[in-house]
Amino acid sequence: MSETAAPRSAPLRARAEIDLAALRANVRTLRAHAPGAAVMAVVKSDAYGHGAVQCARAAVEAGAGWLGTATPEEALALRAAGLTGRIMCWLWTPGGPWREAIEADLDVGVSGMWALREVTAAAAASGRTARVQLKADTGLGRNGCQPGEDWAELVAEALRAEADGLVRVTGIWSHFACADEPGHPSIAAQLDRFRQVLAHAERAGVRPEVRHIANSPATLTLPESHFDLVRTGIATYGISPSPELGSPADFGLRPVMTLSASIALVKHVPGGHGVSYGHHYVTPGETTLGLVPVGYADGIPRHASGTGPVLVDGKWRTVAGRVAMDQFVVDLGGDEPATGTEAVLFGPGDRGEPTAEDWAQAAGTIAYEIVTRIGTRVPRVYVNEGRAG
Ligand SMILES: *Cc1c(COP(=O)(O)O)cnc(C)c1O
Repeated sequence: MSETAAPRSAPLRARAEIDLAALRANVRTLRAHAPGAAVMAVVKSDAYGHGAVQCARAAVEAGAGWLGTATPEEALALRAAGLTGRIMCWLWTPGGPWREAIEADLDVGVSGMWALREVTAAAAASGRTARVQLKADTGLGRNGCQPGEDWAELVAEALRAEADGLVRVTGIWSHFACADEPGHPSIAAQLDRFRQVLAHAERAGVRPEVRHIANSPATLTLPESHFDLVRTGIATYGISPSPELGSPADFGLRPVMTLSASIALVKHVPGGHGVSYGHHYVTPGETTLGLVPVGYADGIPRHASGTGPVLVDGKWRTVAGRVAMDQFVVDLGGDEPATGTEAVLFGPGDRGEPTAEDWAQAAGTIAYEIVTRIGTRVPRVYVNEGRAG
């Protein structure tokens, strides 16, 4: 990071600092991992909790040619915020909003005949051509059209709509089940099936602008999956898709979010003192306790009760007892940091603080869930917003 950090804003109960220089550097790193492909920065779910509009702008500045969201509402919000480039969304339910999406020039993922029929009708009603990307289920077993007869029908119907000027098939795409487990037999099987559905569509006359299947782990570990476009979510935010694959630093990535809170109270207590609901922690002797004013309503996993790590005054402390809705306690072991001292729950790790991955392990989940669940009550504070500096 060559950029200098912006001055810290006034003390807050808690804040999620979002380092946009780190995000831009991650996008550049991902472009280097997939030099033959365009990068789609996936900014669904408020950019995995980091703030969709700010992250989308930073990603585009760093060379992401596409933005991706799950829902059409998320994509429309990016358009409304002034993002003018290619935006794709893929999680549709009957009723749309197809027409709004067509009029906002979104690329829409279509996984089945019902969706193709609805988008075609909306295109006819609006007098415009819908940009449609046909999705095949090559083995994830989730959304996407089943290869074989269903795929052949979907492709044929899309070509008819294309001939009528109602749709343009801009993409053919799919999604991996196990890309975070290199060597998993499903990976090669999905790539094979993807090539088959592509070959079928192209033989039938589809001329897709982009063919894509790679998510973050495939982008980082599987060059043969890159095709024309890679869809990177978690790696954009500097988090490794899986600790088994490697650390962020192993891939040249840097975590973007730092979550911290101001210690709200420090007090001396005797030994044998129960701490927090249920008294699942009892002080082993005379000690000091620190109150960290964030809880499960802020997205701190209750499953990290008794295990979550926090950096206070240069030392790792552990959540003592249960995480409550708005607060939890750490045993400071006799130390007496001033109230207002910063407690860092997670960050990039280079100030000695834990990472989102450490919290994932403490809570028995994945780092994706840690960052995406940080609640709206925690303000996002953007640093290094400018390109230069
Ligand atoms: C969320 C999502 C991605 C991004 O996945 P990461 O593992 O975060 O890179 C890519 N494609 C689709 C269809 C998704 O839903």
